[in-house]
Amino acid sequence: MNKMNHTPKVPTTQSDGSPIKKYVPSKKPFNRNGGNKGKFFSKPQTEEREMQRRKVMKPHRPTPIRRPAPNSPIAPIAEGVIRIIPLGGVEEVGKNMTAIEIGDDIIVVDAGFQFVDETTPGVDYILPNTGYLEQNKHKIRAMFITHGHLDHIGGIPFVIEKIGNPPMYTREFGAIMIKKRHAEFPHLPKPNLVTIEGDQITTAGNFKVKSFPISHTIPDSMGLIIDTPFGDIVFIEDVRVDNKDGQPTDEEINQYKQFKASGKEALLLTMDSTSVEKPGWSLSETVVVENIEKIMREVDGRLIIGTFASQVERILATIELAAKYGKKVIIEGRSMKSNLDIVKQLNLIKDPSVIIGINEMDNIPMDRIVMLVTGAQGEEFAALMRMASNTHKNVKLRQTDTILLSSSIIPGNHASVTKLKDKLYRTDAKIITYLDADVHASGHGNREELGWIHEQIPYKFFIPLHGNHHMLQQHKKLAIELGTKEENIIVPDNGSVIEIFDEGKKIRTLDVRAPHEVVTVDGFSVGNIQEVVMRDRHALAANGIFVIVASINVKTKKLKKSPDIISRGFVYLRESQNLLHDTRRRVQRLIEQKAETMSPVDFDKLKDLVAQDVTKHLFQQTAKSPIVIPVILGV
Ligand SMILES: [Zn+2]
Ligand SMILES: [Zn+2]
Repeated sequence: MNKMNHTPKVPTTQSDGSPIKKYVPSKKPFNRNGGNKGKFFSKPQTEEREMQRRKVMKPHRPTPIRRPAPNSPIAPIAEGVIRIIPLGGVEEVGKNMTAIEIGDDIIVVDAGFQFVDETTPGVDYILPNTGYLEQNKHKIRAMFITHGHLDHIGGIPFVIEKIGNPPMYTREFGAIMIKKRHAEFPHLPKPNLVTIEGDQITTAGNFKVKSFPISHTIPDSMGLIIDTPFGDIVFIEDVRVDNKDGQPTDEEINQYKQFKASGKEALLLTMDSTSVEKPGWSLSETVVVENIEKIMREVDGRLIIGTFASQVERILATIELAAKYGKKVIIEGRSMKSNLDIVKQLNLIKDPSVIIGINEMDNIPMDRIVMLVTGAQGEEFAALMRMASNTHKNVKLRQTDTILLSSSIIPGNHASVTKLKDKLYRTDAKIITYLDADVHASGHGNREELGWIHEQIPYKFFIPLHGNHHMLQQHKKLAIELGTKEENIIVPDNGSVIEIFDEGKKIRTLDVRAPHEVVTVDGFSVGNIQEVVMRDRHALAANGIFVIVASINVKTKKLKKSPDIISRGFVYLRESQNLLHDTRRRVQRLIEQKAETMSPVDFDKLKDLVAQDVTKHLFQQTAKSPIVIPVILGV
């Protein structure tokens, strides 16, 4: 049924006609502090020179442009103003974190991280930039964590020390997820966790925050109602609406009843935008579980279900079904096992004996085995990929096996999922995916579902969160269709400083931004990885490296011997003897000629000349632009 064709019901009462200052991102180049101080250089090469050197090279594959840090400081918050600063999660799906500030108090909602993609090779995670919070650490009264997914909790170990380890309020499941993850960082202070109920009022400074339960894919997800002098901020992150063919369940209707019942309009609503581009209502999780049940009943061999470890509710439902049909469940994959521990700890499984270890598999008839495994996104070393590649220690796929991919493809994982599927279809097992049956539902509401929530909560201002910019813009469009005035909606960027002012009558975005350069976890280092480092990684991946080592006698201005060449990832050296020979001769001639005119020998100048000349020469000979590093030593 089409729920979209309704008349707007959301009151929009802003009467003020004054223009709101629009934020225009400045186009300054990225921060140039620091640079690539490779240990190959006898003297640290300045970034300026590095950039010059690059100019002679073929342009590299572009890396994503990150917008600059603000140059002017952000003025302290004025009286009677509410600040909302999304620090992450509004230019991507991931690293969600938002600060809300009034007077002397700040509360922070979520602290997630983002998994990386091919644009950030070598980086482990990307974190929200907490610069603004670090500057205002003394004002932070509490953190609220909406639920236990990594895009909401993953950043916690990396940020809590920096922001003063404030009390952290969350519901039970999230609290255990956070504790469990934190155990991997024993050197850090323990998080100041306070477990709250689904509908509890918490005081933090002058803030009063009421939690309320919402539906997602993990138990104990919550929204927040933040009391302010000018009205409530209804803060919703990840959300879906349980429904049957587009009809919300009674539980959902009850969850949202309080907003209209209160008789007052909320000041501000925020909400998840991830699936706003998908039309209609999302498939109900109930239907998914019904379909899994049908498949489980019908298979005559092992049932191997690949799904996301984050789909805790589906995992729980599957375990219950297995118990119902007298089957045993084997869990494979670290993240899946980890979440299962939490589920057990919370006594969410009625009969824990239904779960067995993989070593017990041989004692059970095949048709009584259900496996829940990770790796449905084609992750290289996850259980499912090992099974597909026939390298799994305990599982050799056979004709009687059924593999159920109870997942969708996360954008960016297309190539790896394709590889996994191709491998699976080459095995003897029977494969069922979401294309064959309704075996996966998202945790993020589709367009009409989100629209339904908009209708349940009368509000004045709206800020879409949780998504890439185009998703946020689509969510804005939806809000306008539902009757919200365009000037009452702000589509933020990471670091946008949004202010509700004039006693809650107006909203604006300041033209300065909170620090928002990308912060990465790169091995042991956490910080702003420099653009030039990323560019080098891309260049190394695409063209390799070419190092020339030459020793020059500073008196005679002659090389001691022909230069040495070390190269990786460029061309196969054994088959390129002529190229190497030419390059050596060329470098020797160039250094000796130029050194002759120098007194004393200017090593930096020589290195620049060699780098330029060799880069050009190699490009002419091979159409490749490796990173050329000359090392010239004086003896
Ligand atoms: Zn989530
Ligand atoms: Zn999320």
